[in-house]
This record gives sequence, C-alpha cells and structure tokens, in this order.
Amino acid sequence: TQTLHVLARVAPLGDRLVLALVEDRTHEIRVDEIRRDFVANVSHELKTPVGAMMLLAEAVQDASDEPDAVRRFAERMQQEGQRLSRLVQEIIDLSRLQYDDPVDSPEPVEIDDVVVAAIDRSRVDAEDRNIRLTAGGTEGLQVLGNEKQLVVAIGNLIENAVSYSPEGRRVAVGVRRREDLVEISVTDQGHGIAETDLDRIFERFYRVDPARSRETGGTGLGLSIVKHIAASHGGEVSVWSVQGAGSTFTLRLPLLPYRPGQQARGVSQV
Ligand code: ADP
Repeated sequence: TQTLHVLARVAPLGDRLVLALVEDRTHEIRVDEIRRDFVANVSHELKTPVGAMMLLAEAVQDASDEPDAVRRFAERMQQEGQRLSRLVQEIIDLSRLQYDDPVDSPEPVEIDDVVVAAIDRSRVDAEDRNIRLTAGGTEGLQVLGNEKQLVVAIGNLIENAVSYSPEGRRVAVGVRRREDLVEISVTDQGHGIAETDLDRIFERFYRVDPARSRETGGTGLGLSIVKHIAASHGGEVSVWSVQGAGSTFTLRLPLLPYRPGQQARGVSQV
C-alpha cells in the first residue's frame, strides 16, 4: 500500500481547479519500519550474551572454592564475550554497508587475492574440524569494488560452509567466468537447508537452528552482510541446497574487461 502525504489540496478557483501537491512517503515509512525492527532485534540479540555473562559471573562467585567449576564458568564467559564482540562488529559492518551504497571510490580487485584471503580466515577452523578446503577455477579475473568487503562476503560463505558441515567433509571454492560476470561458488557437503528456509536465510538474524548457530558462534547476520556487499557491487548472491547433502552459495559480480593470460587451473588443495 502507498502512503501519500498531502502537501496541498485541490481547491476550486473560479471555474478552474487548483492541483493538489502530494508526496509519496511509502519508501520513507518502510525504511522507518525496517529501522525499528532492526533496533528491536539488536536489543534482543545483545541481551542474550549479556544475560548469560551475568549468570556466569554469579556462578563464579558461588563456586569460588571449586577451582574446576570456576575455570569452566570463566571459559564460558569468554565465549559469550567473543560472541558479543562479534555481534557488535557485525552490526557496525552492516550499518556501515547500508549507508555506503554503492561502494565509495571502487578500485580494481583481483578475485584470486580475495579467495586466498577469505580462505585464510577459516583455515584454523577447518583444520580443527578436519575439513578439507580446496580452491580452483579461472585465474586473473578482476572486478571493480572494495577488496575488504569482498573478502568479508566470500569469507562469510566459507565460514558458514565449514561451520554447518560435519567433521571430515570437503568445502570447495570455485571461480568461473560467465560472459561478463564472475561466479564465485562455495560448495559444502554439510547439513543442507530445507526449501522453506531458503528464502529466509538472507534476512537479518534469521537462523534455521538457533541453537546450532549459537554453538558455532553465529550471529544470524552473516548472510545479510553478504547480500548487501553483493548488491553494492552490482551483483547478487544465490543458494542451491539439498537437505542432508549440502549447499552451494554463489556470488555473481560484474567483471572488469577480460585480460589476456587468464586460464583455467585445476582444483588444488590450499
Ligand atoms: P549465522 O551467523 O547464524 O551463521 P548467517 O546469516 O550466516 O547466520 O546464516 C543464516 C542461517 O542460514 C544459519 O543460521 C544457518 O541456519 C543457515 N546456513 C547458512 N549457511 C549454511 C550452510 N552452508 N549450510 C547449512 N546451513 C547454512
């Protein structure tokens, strides 16, 4: 529905009519609603780790003569603290992205560099969980944009692929040229996502399984950040998934003109 704000009305003037001046406020009101929802969600999300930390602090006080229990509670406080700091960082990233549309002063970015840096962010987690991370595809492709943001976007997809896969599986990052686009795909052999959830996972704070997301330190903001970064680069992100078999997330971005010397390389362990 449209919300029109009347600035001036139609009025008869002799045998003529004066035209009303009307302003369409639909967009403004929608933005306001989204902002209000966001603030409500943020407050709720911040209260969870803060509440847990308060309870744990009480537990530490009560267990002061049991060193093992104190150590356990302190570890959990540290985990909650890390979650809180990640949440705050992601909220800041997301609000910056929302005001930074499209990317300020874009520069040529090498996709190879983005993939290497993004994989680096998950290397330790993948090793801990015995997950094999591989990368391959067309080398030497470039896009116009912000390298840091693109590392965050691909990095978030890889982090999710690792987090939502059972131990010992494989996560593959592929780069392909499709006419004037580059497709960067992240494929896992993980839990997969039900069809009914596929449309919703890009929403802020939406998690299919909140308990599992919390366990992996997830904030529910990762994919909405990816979606924003894709859009601000003139691209898009999509997902294909089969429950129980795995998922492929694909980021498509407009390519800078093709340079000689680009060639396909085989899949390699990185
Ligand atoms: P989170 O911080 O919870 O991972 P995201 O926005 O990154 O938040 O993802 C939203 C939800 O989508 C996750 O909680 C998870 O349920 C689901 N999801 C994302 N990536 C994957 C994946 N590769 N495999 C299975 N489920 C996924």
